[in-house]
Amino acid sequence: MNRAPAEAAAAGVLAGAKRLVIKIGSALLVDETSGAIRRDWLDGLADDVAMLRRRGSDVLIVSSGAIAVGRRHLGLTGKAPKLEEKQAAAATGQIRLAHAWQETLARHDITVAQILLTPEDTEQRRRHLNARSTIAQLLRLGAVPVINENDTVATDEIRFGDNDRLAARVAQMISADTLVLLSDIDGLYTADPRRAEGARRIDEVREVTPEIEAMAGEAPPGYSSGGMVTKLAAAKIALGAGCRMAIALGKRPHPLAALDQGAACTWFLPSAAPQTARKRWIAGHLKPVGAIIVDAGAIAALTKGKSLLPAGIAGVERAFERGDLVVVKGPDGKEVARGLSAYSSTDVDRIKGHKSGEIAQILGYRGRDEVIHRDDLVVKG
Ligand code: GLU
Repeated sequence: MNRAPAEAAAAGVLAGAKRLVIKIGSALLVDETSGAIRRDWLDGLADDVAMLRRRGSDVLIVSSGAIAVGRRHLGLTGKAPKLEEKQAAAATGQIRLAHAWQETLARHDITVAQILLTPEDTEQRRRHLNARSTIAQLLRLGAVPVINENDTVATDEIRFGDNDRLAARVAQMISADTLVLLSDIDGLYTADPRRAEGARRIDEVREVTPEIEAMAGEAPPGYSSGGMVTKLAAAKIALGAGCRMAIALGKRPHPLAALDQGAACTWFLPSAAPQTARKRWIAGHLKPVGAIIVDAGAIAALTKGKSLLPAGIAGVERAFERGDLVVVKGPDGKEVARGLSAYSSTDVDRIKGHKSGEIAQILGYRGRDEVIHRDDLVVKG
């Protein structure tokens, strides 16, 4: 799409973002007393999202608010709801939340896709590959994914608990380059500015050190579970994934346009790009489960940066599941690469030596064309 000249001229801090995750907390989106969604504010934010997309960024939204909206409708207005009450509230609130997003973005002809995730879905194995490719597909098709925790099925022990962390996991999973946490404060301060006189905002952080963590203090009480502590936990995940992250003031109209135009905030800046960080993680942080043996033609293709197709596979070693890390070996048994397999060892064994077009016929379902996609593959240097 053509850039509007005025927007191109005004392109600012967020202009370089190819893939941008925006996290919006309940306190911004939902009026605490009435439990109603703040439509004017939301409409302003949707205008910002449309502007960023016109400028060429993929935009994903991590939106809280299901519990805050749903509580009112179920009459759960007591101070500290129990877990199952929160989950019940989320079940009814999520519908209204998704509807509000759909309505506001429809004003810009933008299609919304709802995605509810549990920690297991973003964990770096198996289901991670599914969620990653579904989200990538939605972005290719021009939709804006609106993501929340699948609160109704999460249990006490298996919960993100807060959407700051969920947003960072999503950013990591889809190799986003920018994460913006819209907050009720315009960044990280040396101490809580509401209590400590002389507290000063930090403009830039390159590493979350114990000194930085000490600045966060305690998580505040209330229905949103965030606070600075979880924002710093999110920053650690984002930096490790090569994604820059901002803590920016959300309590203003058009908060993203303001950030883009240089409004004060705290930026957390990574040392590596997302793709490099992902490859480092694949190469260094996972234990290989099995191996795939490939022929000389496949080795040549892999070293040229291509994906691993079934045609070049000669065999498998040990059992592995889809999403597991496997070592790719040449006919001489030497490691040539390692990567995340899109198929289990049983299925690789069945499709080895065949063309990708034959996969559906052999397995009875149409999986990926690649056994290891090049984004999930690290070739030994
Ligand atoms: N998933 C929760 C909701 O939608 C919010 C979690 C959080 O406060 O970060 O209500």
